[in-house]
Amino acid sequence: IVVQVRVAALGSEYILILADDRTEITRSQEIRNDFVANVSHELKTPVGAISLLAEAIDDAAEDEVAVRRFAQRMHKESGRLSALVQDIIELSRLQGTDVVRRGRPVDLNAVISEAVDRNKLPAESKQIEIVVGGVAPAPVYGDSDLLMTAFRNLIDNAIRYAPDGTRVGVGLRSRDGLVQVSVTDQGPGITVEEQERIFERFYRIDAARSRQTGGTGLGLSIVKHVVSNHGGEVTVWSQAGQGSTFTVRLPQMEVGPDGDAALGAGT
Ligand code: ADP
Repeated sequence: IVVQVRVAALGSEYILILADDRTEITRSQEIRNDFVANVSHELKTPVGAISLLAEAIDDAAEDEVAVRRFAQRMHKESGRLSALVQDIIELSRLQGTDVVRRGRPVDLNAVISEAVDRNKLPAESKQIEIVVGGVAPAPVYGDSDLLMTAFRNLIDNAIRYAPDGTRVGVGLRSRDGLVQVSVTDQGPGITVEEQERIFERFYRIDAARSRQTGGTGLGLSIVKHVVSNHGGEVTVWSQAGQGSTFTVRLPQMEVGPDGDAALGAGT
């Protein structure tokens, strides 16, 4: 808020700048409250299902086939619960300040190859081929575990939302002092309106589908936080029915003649 005051006695004018922290505090309080409300809602679904299934198992004690079926569903729901708790913890950690304070040079080629490896099983079960091309010529500065989480999430989405037998492309390149990694799929695509919302916590275009495929609604939110914590950005290019490309750009380190890495001038 800028207030202009005239101090009559002195005959001069002063500009007063009052920082109104209240709005900032209220806003962050609102965001926190929303988050807690969403978390409670999301946790209630699997917890409620587990409790109902436990009752059903109790009632069907004599019917072995039914007991087995309920037990399998219970296992699936508890898996969902555990994925959700894991993502919530990850996200709260990321919302803290400066998680990459103790960073180090990270070779994105290695990170990507491990992220691809960890998605091998789900890809194989859908006959999806993951094709990696290009290289990151220099390291980025940061936390390799967090970066792995981000890329694993992007590749995991590409596999989960695309039809069986399609291809997922992962491309690495360097451009304008940034390392650029894109993950492209041949899935259903995302409309421009939806593109603006998919990075929000718990936002899903099709909640039933996301749940069915094991999604928590937090994946892209985690990606966005990891990338911004590393001084980078994540963008999406997509058209409905045309697949999607998610691109992450991260500041590249400069490697000196003696092999030492330092953050580039662009950072
Ligand atoms: P989820 O756990 O539901 O996948 P995300 O935060 O990772 O949550 O993604 C948010 C939503 O964005 C998803 O529910 C899905 O509707 C959409 N989405 C994400 N990635 C893709 C993709 N590669 N293709 C199509 N839709 C996607």
